[in-house]
Amino acid sequence: MRLEVLGFWGGTPERGGATSGYLLHLDQGVLMLDCGSGVMSELSRRMAFHKVRYLILSHLHFDHIADVGILQYGFNRALRNGWVAEPLPVLAAGEPRVFWDALQSQEAHWEEIDAAREYAILGAKVSFLEVQHTVPCYAVKVVDRSERVFVYSADTAYFEEGLVDFVAGADVFLCEATNFEGSVHSVGRGHMSAGEAGRLAAAAGVGKLVLTHLPSDGNFEAMRQEAKAEFSGQVLLASEVGWWKFR
Ligand SMILES: [Zn+2]
Ligand SMILES: [Zn+2]
Repeated sequence: MRLEVLGFWGGTPERGGATSGYLLHLDQGVLMLDCGSGVMSELSRRMAFHKVRYLILSHLHFDHIADVGILQYGFNRALRNGWVAEPLPVLAAGEPRVFWDALQSQEAHWEEIDAAREYAILGAKVSFLEVQHTVPCYAVKVVDRSERVFVYSADTAYFEEGLVDFVAGADVFLCEATNFEGSVHSVGRGHMSAGEAGRLAAAAGVGKLVLTHLPSDGNFEAMRQEAKAEFSGQVLLASEVGWWKFR
């Protein structure tokens, strides 16, 4: 399993970057997690868009879905030209319904996330936990065939019950850290600070913590120190990960 960060900004992208978008390279192909603003542009630097075999959307906020329509335009071209044989499978939060309805297209096969299920996706086991955000939103756990574990918090406020167990044992925990003292980036509701991400990582006993969904006016080194004050393992920023091979 390999993690590739396409976008890590919360809310709005900065300096040619992108909001949330990640690739997990699995045994049977590439899984994309979230597809925010600028993600398609960033993807085009790395690989052909039609190499994406599966899309998971943690929730239907624009900073996680802004480029989904563009990816579907790409798949229209890919289907017409025989570059892919099937519409893109999409597993997504089903609310708010107005966004769900607007995103439907013939180029993709949409299915609502069922947190009670475990899914087999591209040779990996994938499961979900509903988290505490301002719209229905799901944390995502991916376990590959070598039992390497990746967990993505998606957007959530800090809470422990259920979440610590869900995150427990992750080799890499990609966790949102949107809130920062003095930041005017967002109002902060339904989000965490780097210190809270660190506390969660410590409680869950993860291998490495990667902070993401970063605020445009955050002091990233101060945020890393906040997380390190709570968690003794390695703390990275999604801005510096690029790609990551699980060992
Ligand atoms: Zn959100
Ligand atoms: Zn967000």
